[in-house]
Amino acid sequence: MADEGDNIETDEMLTGDEYLAGLDDGREVWYDGERVGNVATHPAFAGAARTLAGLYDALHDPATSDALTFVDRFGHRTHRFFAPSYSAADLAASRDAIEVWQRMTYGWMGRTPDYKAAFMAQLAEGHDFYGDYGDNALAWYHKSASRVLFLNHVLIDPPVDRSAHRVDVRDVFVSLDNSDDNGIYVSGAKMVATGSALTHATFVAMNSGVAARMEPGRDDDMALVFIVDMDAPGVKLICRPSYEARAESPFEAPLASRFDENDAVLVFENTFVPWENVLVYRDVETAKGFYANSGFYNRYNLHSLTRLAVKLQFVAGLMIEGTRASGTDSFRGVQVATGEIVAMMETVWSLTTAMISDPEPSIGGTVVPRLQTAAAARLYSTNAWDRVRAIFESYLAGAPIYTVSSPKDLLNPELRPTIDRYYRGTGVDAEQRIKLFKLIWDALYSEFAGRSALYERNFAGNQEQQRLDALRWATQRGDVDRWCAMVADCMADYDLEGWVNR
Ligand SMILES: Cc1cc2nc3c(=O)[nH]c(=O)nc-3n(C[C@H](O)[C@H](O)[C@H](O)COP(=O)(O)OP(=O)(O)OC[C@H]3O[C@@H](n4cnc5c(N)ncnc54)[C@H](O)[C@@H]3O)c2cc1C
Repeated sequence: MADEGDNIETDEMLTGDEYLAGLDDGREVWYDGERVGNVATHPAFAGAARTLAGLYDALHDPATSDALTFVDRFGHRTHRFFAPSYSAADLAASRDAIEVWQRMTYGWMGRTPDYKAAFMAQLAEGHDFYGDYGDNALAWYHKSASRVLFLNHVLIDPPVDRSAHRVDVRDVFVSLDNSDDNGIYVSGAKMVATGSALTHATFVAMNSGVAARMEPGRDDDMALVFIVDMDAPGVKLICRPSYEARAESPFEAPLASRFDENDAVLVFENTFVPWENVLVYRDVETAKGFYANSGFYNRYNLHSLTRLAVKLQFVAGLMIEGTRASGTDSFRGVQVATGEIVAMMETVWSLTTAMISDPEPSIGGTVVPRLQTAAAARLYSTNAWDRVRAIFESYLAGAPIYTVSSPKDLLNPELRPTIDRYYRGTGVDAEQRIKLFKLIWDALYSEFAGRSALYERNFAGNQEQQRLDALRWATQRGDVDRWCAMVADCMADYDLEGWVNR
């Protein structure tokens, strides 16, 4: 365990300009039939890149730097969640730092750079977990924490054949081609790498469901965990449509035009990975354990729940303003619906409080949120958004569709008087009402909103796996035996004759 105060303090955290400049590194990103030159200036990515640069600048801004950063036990000034936590107080400070960045995106970017810090921070004290590759793990901690690097992660195999063994889909799934003294060579695709075009490196492993089904001897060539720089030759990103590229103006798509974290399919084509970037090599047991045993699972849920709490505050605001503008906010049923969103937000926030204030010990003297709390939080949070959407659709009903085709309608002097008369709301003029409902549209109904809803439901694994994990981990902890023992105790209190010992 690192000792406090051993090291000289350094501040190498990237600024926004350094982050943007670093993206122009020749990475292979494909969009709309063409290879993208510089993602930082390309219309499909530039808005999101600027938002992320703003997060980096906040690390250095006196107004936010104290809440966001501190000096870790190795001497690096870093984002608080990029370093391991040794106490509940450390976890609380990490949550506050996550919250500061999330407020800058109103909770709409799931993969801000601190998301993968949920894993990278654990490499500091948990490097022994990786055995012969432990030095690589520690080196990656220093690299990631000191510069506040932005890593994406890919855990999921493409949906080409879920019924086959992974080894039978080697032509598509990521597997080892060969290795030499310098490193390993890998080929295969992963679904999907959110934010990857705008990151520094990708982290490659497998999710809990896949890991549980892996077997030593059969799956060794796929039991790999490694990190690849985005500009490494043989790394190809094939992007989904960009909603920010399609956004005609901020007035039209105020969220999509700045928070669209593109999800790309990531393909390796005999990609060289130097040994220093390998964490697990042909080791099924370690590959299986990384998800829960590294503390990643416990910590990423703290990040995602904090983000969701911020996002729910934002949509509570949208609901209140939207119903006010329609003059429905005083109705009892509408207040009931708004109150439900408020209670959902408070539930999510309370789960983060439980995660930070009642942690469990993890590797190397660190503490992480308790596994069972994280499992419960994961399940609640990935179903919450469906309810929000249902509430908006029932209580704002058709109001969000009562808008105009674009800001040009408002700018047209011939049409404007008609719009001003017929589009006003309760206490708001037509322009303000249309502006509000275009924001609501982008949050709940647009293509950007549809992707966001799909993300909320699936980003933490498929819905069945979330429940299976909760049960499996309860079984491993002995909880299942304890609960069954309660039932046995209860049944031992009586028999065919009546009460026993009572
Ligand atoms: C917007 C978005 C962003 C994402 N970003 C990332 C990312 O950055 N990194 C990343 O790694 N992943 C990412 N994902 C992928 C995400 O993690 C997966 O979509 C999620 O884990 C669900 O997996 P799946 O889609 O393959 O569904 P599946 O695993 O195919 O599950 C769908 C259903 O099929 C059935 N099923 C599947 N397999 C089995 C089985 N073996 N036995 C029995 N039933 C089965 C179950 O009923 C299950 O509910 C993202 C997804 C979305 C939608």
